[in-house]
Amino acid sequence: MPAIWETYSRNMETIEEECRKCKSVQKHTFRVYETKVYSFLPTKTERHVTLVCHGCLLESKIPKEQEKDLLKKYEKQILTADGHRFFEKGKYKEALNMYDQALKKDPEFAGAIYGKARTLIAKQDYRGAEKYVETLMSRFPKDRDVNDMNDVLRKYLPSTKNDRIKDHLPKEMENETPLEILKLRYSKGEITREEYLQMKKDLE
Ligand SMILES: [Zn+2]
Repeated sequence: MPAIWETYSRNMETIEEECRKCKSVQKHTFRVYETKVYSFLPTKTERHVTLVCHGCLLESKIPKEQEKDLLKKYEKQILTADGHRFFEKGKYKEALNMYDQALKKDPEFAGAIYGKARTLIAKQDYRGAEKYVETLMSRFPKDRDVNDMNDVLRKYLPSTKNDRIKDHLPKEMENETPLEILKLRYSKGEITREEYLQMKKDLE
């Protein structure tokens, strides 16, 4: 089987410095190239960094030593971006693996936390996603995507965690079993028939 090459590039941080072509101070962006060589599995990954001038678009190599330092610095972003790419292809297991590697570099890294939450929700592992969504909600309470994820969790988690149902219950329901609570909520029109049936299934 012939080897297949895939190359991705992504722009990282932007700095200002003098361009050797424009001879003026311009914005420059570091761009990371990543090439994966596949035969059956990805067998090799090569990365390098260029510097792109915003003025004249000259893209130039940077010194090896600086490249090495930058690749180390960008590693969590690169791993996270790889995770996002797997996510887009529906390869959730591989995506989670990338996010975990990024979080090993930096447990606070928001991009990887976000990716992990989104992937776990896509896998319908709402319980697993909970702590990541909570972290994101505490750090980005106004972010639209984060709030959307939180809404999904609120919709699905009560069906698997009884104390959460009870947190929001009127007094009359406090001593009911989860199934009875569910019936009450359905009868009151708080949840749709689909939600009722799904939650009922989850409880059985
Ligand atoms: Zn230039």
